[in-house]
Amino acid sequence: MASWKTYLEENQDGFLKQLLEFLSIPSISGLKEHKEDVKKAADWVAARLQTGGLENVRILPTGGHPVVYGDWLHAPDKPTILIYGHFDTQPVDPLELWSQPPFEPAVAEERVYARGASDDKGNMLAPILALEALLNSQEKLPVNVKCFFEGQEEIGSPQLPEFISANRELLACDLILSADGGQWDEDQPALTLALRGLCALQVDVQAARGDTHSGTFGGTIMNPIHALVRPWIRCIPHRARLRLKAFMMMCVCFRISNGLRSPKFLTMNPTTRPSWVSMNFSVNPDIQLMNGPGHGPRLK
Ligand SMILES: [Zn+2]
Repeated sequence: MASWKTYLEENQDGFLKQLLEFLSIPSISGLKEHKEDVKKAADWVAARLQTGGLENVRILPTGGHPVVYGDWLHAPDKPTILIYGHFDTQPVDPLELWSQPPFEPAVAEERVYARGASDDKGNMLAPILALEALLNSQEKLPVNVKCFFEGQEEIGSPQLPEFISANRELLACDLILSADGGQWDEDQPALTLALRGLCALQVDVQAARGDTHSGTFGGTIMNPIHALVRPWIRCIPHRARLRLKAFMMMCVCFRISNGLRSPKFLTMNPTTRPSWVSMNFSVNPDIQLMNGPGHGPRLK
């Protein structure tokens, strides 16, 4: 029996053909007119899982675009790995920037060009082929595997949380491998750990009923944009805060360089001043400010 490596090498051409076929399905989840195409991509994935040797393959409804599930659970006492990926794609606009139609995959210099090639159809096909190669060469896998592929990642997976809650048992696993990522270069396989999640929220700020005069009220009444920025800045890591300080310093430098000795700066509140001092910032306008090699003109 051939090794998994030989199996992959011997079937390269066929796999590439299959990838191109997968890529030619315009499964844009964000556009209603492509709903059937997303379904078609789900059918394609389900058939591919079956060919690959996965069991219990099924397409499950979510209320939105469907998901595809398949498993291989014959490794008692071994962990269960769930492999995640998505078969939907982003829209294709602006079309004129494409050098070929986005769903007519082109191969040039050993690269495949098409919408969804690297996010995520190529990526999610790779583990399916790996499983197939292992099953064909060894007739078993070293761990239990569940495949879970969705068709609405590019629109934020709106029905997925509910689907997952309702299918806890089916999706239960010890570890999740997301096949929706990148690789540093083609010769360096990579496993990225501890990816961060995504959080969306809406913040409403209630402001004054009408416009107020900037001269009279500026600095006392908070502008909605200021109110929004303040809590937001606290959420940003330390380095980004420093960047904001640097930006403020640039503003001050600009004022000085233009002969505008900012009254605000000169009467800077005593708690703020030490932080400027700690930055080695000098109020002397003759000194070179922030002028490392190659950094802008000398300020006078
Ligand atoms: Zn993706």
